[in-house]
Amino acid sequence: MIRLNKVSKTYRTDKVETLAVKDIDLHVKRGEFVAMMGPSGCGKSTLLNLIGLLDRPGAGSIEVDGVPITRYRDKQVAKLRNQTFGFIFQSFHLIPDLRVIDNVELPLLYRSISGTERRRLARAALEKVDLGARLDHYPNQLSGGQQQRVAIARAIVGEPQVLLADEPTGNLDSKMGAEVMDILLKLNSEGTTVVMVTHDELEARRVNRIVRVFDGQLVA
Ligand code: ADP
Ligand code: ADP
Repeated sequence: MIRLNKVSKTYRTDKVETLAVKDIDLHVKRGEFVAMMGPSGCGKSTLLNLIGLLDRPGAGSIEVDGVPITRYRDKQVAKLRNQTFGFIFQSFHLIPDLRVIDNVELPLLYRSISGTERRRLARAALEKVDLGARLDHYPNQLSGGQQQRVAIARAIVGEPQVLLADEPTGNLDSKMGAEVMDILLKLNSEGTTVVMVTHDELEARRVNRIVRVFDGQLVA
């Protein structure tokens, strides 16, 4: 599904150069649930951003379904990214002034879909995360776990093949974290490929495969 070949990424600021990931070979297969683990600053977020085509590698190549995207223009990459990936982050990034249903509809505004169809898809996505009864609430009327489930609904409303999650349970207590994990596992069992950064060994034990990152390299 996604293949990284000898991928490296260096960040450059005025004075500092950081080689954040180096020479990474990684194949994420269709249908897998991969947990990425490693100490803070080891390159997990950078890797996730590369896998999700949010960033381009400084060296090496990335293939999506066997097609190397190296020569794609930014616009083509953006189109492929929107068709392929949904993203979830540690902080939920919901828009506080919008109701739950409107937050979930947001990614569909850029597609040529009618208002009625948008609403139907958003409702279906919210039902998948067990929030079908909270459509008209505002984010601050929900618990952290519920807010993260709204963010998951927003990530899956466009029916992405791959869900990328950067510490999705990092701001949640263990009970709400487990609920979020239950939902990610359910989506995975229904066919969505998931790659998740986590610090939680118990969570990682629930998935197919653990990739361990240390100092910008895969160590196991
Ligand atoms: P992790 O997700 O494992 O905490 P990151 O991928 O965020 O690691 O960071 C890897 C390294 O790259 C760190 O040294 C971090 O400070 C650096 N880094 C990450 N993003 C940037 C950036 N936008 N600009 C400069 N350095 C960055
Ligand atoms: P995480 O908790 O997921 O590791 P961070 O708090 O390290 O995230 O990073 C948050 C954002 O800041 C990321 O988008 C990352 O790319 C960016 N970032 C991380 N380290 C640096 C850095 N040294 N300089 C600039 N941006 C950074």
